[in-house]
This record gives sequence, structure tokens and C-alpha cells, in this order.
Amino acid sequence: KLHNMVQELKGNIRVFCRVRPALPSDGSPSNTGVEVASIAYPDKRDHKEIVLSSSSESAMGAERKETWQFSFDRVFEPHSSQADVFEEISQLAQSCVDGYNVCIFAYGQTGSGKSFTMEGGASREMQGMIPRAVEQVFRTSEHLRSKGWEYKLEGQFVEIYNETINDLLGSGEFDKKKHDIKHDKGSTRITDVVVVPLNSPAQVASLLSLAQSRRSVAATLMNERSSRSHSVFTLRISGSNAMTGETCDGALNLVDLAGSERLNASGAGSDKERLRETQSINKSLSALGDVIAALGAGGASGEKGHIPYRNSKLTYLLQNSLSGNSKTLMLLNLSPLAAHLNESLCSLRFATKVN
Ligand code: ADP
Repeated sequence: KLHNMVQELKGNIRVFCRVRPALPSDGSPSNTGVEVASIAYPDKRDHKEIVLSSSSESAMGAERKETWQFSFDRVFEPHSSQADVFEEISQLAQSCVDGYNVCIFAYGQTGSGKSFTMEGGASREMQGMIPRAVEQVFRTSEHLRSKGWEYKLEGQFVEIYNETINDLLGSGEFDKKKHDIKHDKGSTRITDVVVVPLNSPAQVASLLSLAQSRRSVAATLMNERSSRSHSVFTLRISGSNAMTGETCDGALNLVDLAGSERLNASGAGSDKERLRETQSINKSLSALGDVIAALGAGGASGEKGHIPYRNSKLTYLLQNSLSGNSKTLMLLNLSPLAAHLNESLCSLRFATKVN
């Protein structure tokens, strides 16, 4: 069996932070000379700390400086590649082959790099964590054939929008079918959802593009739908060993969360629909924070108090993958821009709460 000793010694919740590079589309920094803000990476050797600083000058010429320091299990700087990030999560991802339930979340404001991290770009080098993880699980399961194991892999991809589940791999229109969550003896099922048997890692690319096209059709009613909804890709793996009689079931959930930015529902263009969206995003992100914090508070001792899974669809859906035999990674995505300093601080504080 493949065991990750470090993981087990330190408990089952990890928090990583990834800062995306500045992009040409970010434009030149709106640096008026009055306020500057930056992110520094002091702990070069271990890549575990980041420091945010901002300084501003008052009209009287007095300078005010503020700094904030945060530590993580791992920090990825803007130049880190998709392969660098995957290297650090691959052990965790493939522990689903050993029968673990794994959740990997990307958290951050819209534009901070969540989808890039999870789904990635078209080229092999740009591939995100979903295709890399699926490929790795395939390879590991193939490798274990020689030891008598036979595995069945299945994929499902849904979004949670306004506390409603939509099937990203379904046919027909969104919102027409009602999808309910059913828990039964440690396994979770969504009613009427399309579950695709996965026979090759290459299939994942077409599933991701199908999901993308369904989301963009649904977005005609509303801009930027994907930033207003959570998407959950689930790889389920079940194995049996004819030589030893053993069986095992695991799941890997890769979750691209809705944008965490504080939304001003009273701003221009807001309406009832927008307000409802904002409320469901705030509710589900804070419910997720509460659940992970409650799990972390129980520690490795297993003495967990009440875990409020039922407070949102997202935590209810992932209940079996966030409890018991499970491993969780929160990947915090940050923008490097000074203009986003306040949102970055909000994200960092969220991560501190769950760490
Ligand atoms: P989000 O999903 O958080 O809204 P995206 O993943 O869409 O953010 O990223 C915003 C933009 O930044 C996209 O154009 C994306 O391609 C780019 N981007 C994000 N992270 C990186 C990175 N590490 N390297 C290069 N480009 C990136």
C-alpha cells in the first residue's frame, strides 16, 4: 500500500497557497505613488511563508506601513509551474487508490487562478490538477494489476449554483432535472446525474470541454457563471483483488469554488437574482470554512464534535469525503496585484481559520 507518512503524522488537512503571475491583461499597476503593496516570499528554502505589505503616505507626508505574515504547508510563487504544484499534491490525489476519500479545493477571488490550477490550459504543460490527477490514478491502478488488483474508474462533474445542483456532463438544459444528494453507508450519490466510465486518461479533456460548453450556454442569462458557482469533479475508484479477496473504494473530489470576493449587492447592476447568488456563495463558503475548522479542531484524535455538514449543498455533498477516512487540501489562490490586496487578505484570513 502507498502510504504518506507525513500526511498521517500531521493530520488530514493541508493548506497550500499559490500566487499567480501578473498577466499582460492586468495592465500596468495602478500605482499612484500613494499606496504600494506587495507580496514577499521570505522563506525561500521551505516555501512556506508569505508576507503582504502595504505602505501609504498621508497628505501630511507621514508614512504608514503595514505588514501581514502567513504560513502554509507550501507556498507556490508566481513562476511555479503546473507540474511543480502537482508534484506536491500527487501523493494525496492518488491515495484514493488506497481507499481514501480526498477533497482538493481551490479557493480565491475571481481571476486569482482557480480554474487555471484545476482545469488548466490546452497544452500538456498547462494541464491542471484534474487531468494530471486522473492520469496519475490511472497509472497507479494499472501498476497494481500485477499485484492482482482490478479497478473500475468513474467520473462525474457537477456545479452547485444558488444551492442547486446542475449536471455539467448531462444532456438537455440545466435546471430541468432535479438532482438530490443521497448518502448510503458511506457512499454518496446524486440522483439522475451522468456518471461516465473512465477508460483512458485522455477522456478527461473531452469531459472538461463538454462541461465548459454547457456552462457557457447557461451563462447567456448571466455573466461569468463559472465564477458564481462551485464546480465539483469527482473521480470514483473501486478495486478488488482476486488474489487476496480485498476490496477498496475511494473518491477524489477536485473542487473549483465560486469567487470569494466580497460582493457589493447594493452596487450598480445588482438585482434580486444577484443578491440571491451573493447570499448563497457567502453561505456555502462560510459553511465550508466551518466544517473544515470543526474537522481540524477534532485533530488526529478523532474526537470530533458536531460537524455542520448540512448548512450548505456543497458540504452536504462532500460529507463522506470530508469525514472519517478522508484527506483534505485547501489550495488558496491569490492575485499578485496591489489592487487586490484587500481581497488577498480576506482569502488569507479564511485559510488561517481552516489551518
Ligand atoms: P479564476 O478561476 O480564479 O477566476 P482563472 O483561472 O480564470 O481565475 O485565472 C485568471 C487568468 O489568469 C486566466 O487568464 C488564467 O489563464 C491566468 N492564470 C492564472 N494562473 C496562472 C498561472 N499560474 N500562470 C499563467 N496564467 C495564469
